[in-house]
Amino acid sequence: MIGSVVAVDLGGTKTTAALVTPTGAISARHTVPTPAAAGPSAVLDAVAEVVDHVSTEATAPVRKVGVGSAGLVDVDTGTIVSATNAMPDWAGTALGAELVARLRSRWGHSVRVHVQNDVDAHATGEAWKGAARGRSCVLMVTVGTGVGASLVLDGKPRYGAHWGAGEIGHVPTPRAEGLRCACGRLGHLEAVAAGTAVARRYQASTGIVADGEQVVALSLRGDVTATRMVTDAAVALGQAIAGQVTVLDPDIVVIGGGFANAGPLWWAAMDDTVRSELVPVLQAVEIVPTSLGADAALLGAARAAQDLLSQDAEPGTARRPSAPHRPTSAASAGQSSPRDGIHDHDSENRPS
Ligand SMILES: [Zn+2]
Repeated sequence: MIGSVVAVDLGGTKTTAALVTPTGAISARHTVPTPAAAGPSAVLDAVAEVVDHVSTEATAPVRKVGVGSAGLVDVDTGTIVSATNAMPDWAGTALGAELVARLRSRWGHSVRVHVQNDVDAHATGEAWKGAARGRSCVLMVTVGTGVGASLVLDGKPRYGAHWGAGEIGHVPTPRAEGLRCACGRLGHLEAVAAGTAVARRYQASTGIVADGEQVVALSLRGDVTATRMVTDAAVALGQAIAGQVTVLDPDIVVIGGGFANAGPLWWAAMDDTVRSELVPVLQAVEIVPTSLGADAALLGAARAAQDLLSQDAEPGTARRPSAPHRPTSAASAGQSSPRDGIHDHDSENRPS
């Protein structure tokens, strides 16, 4: 019988792990601070520690771990391709292999680890058990300290040719002209729509230091500058989402991240902008907030790890297609081919 996996939501400030059953029941949740400033080795030690802690509550030895991590991830190797300054030196970290080694030395048995981007994990969770349950084409957009997105087709994220699919925060955006993005370039969506961008712009205009949530609160009390900044952020995001909806025609758009709770002023400006930019046939696109909150990333990470279990149950099946995969439902229908996870021996399915 397939047992629980350990799911990990690895962010720049905190890391949460939990046991997740094949049906999506979460237990033994445990959260620790992420020692990001101490460097990758300290982060890896902390992740191994929290996974080990959670696993003690499992009824059978844990053999699969799913991780949703900050940064772009090479899912084939479990390696971080790029990351922001919130995780110094995180880019290049062989997260999957390092975690396998640490857990094997603790547990004395083999373990496989699947690593993906945290927004992809979040979106996968929403598509499995949340607001997008049962939908085949799901666009998820998260707005917090940054702006990210994920496209989930038939339950599986599309990673892209360079693991960079969904980086909506770096889409050129009219309202961001002249504003410096976290990536160093000018005019990207994140420079106007992220919570940090709203705070920075408000301070530049007023001299008042406030975080994004505080600027939202000021806008709700009638502060004209705060209202302009929040509206700018929402309209810019709405324009970017309209662009993606025009290309993808998704079944549903799910909005998540801390700034997505910015209230009715922000939501209405975002939603009205999307619909006003779209051609009539697309204007009824469903746009909803996340329904799972912090559970979504855990569920998505667990789902990917469970897919590794399914591969083991059917040796020789579920290989990733060797041809470049195209993000079409026809390509993914009828075959379950998650990227292979990282593992520590060859008696199970091989790494790609
Ligand atoms: Zn950028």
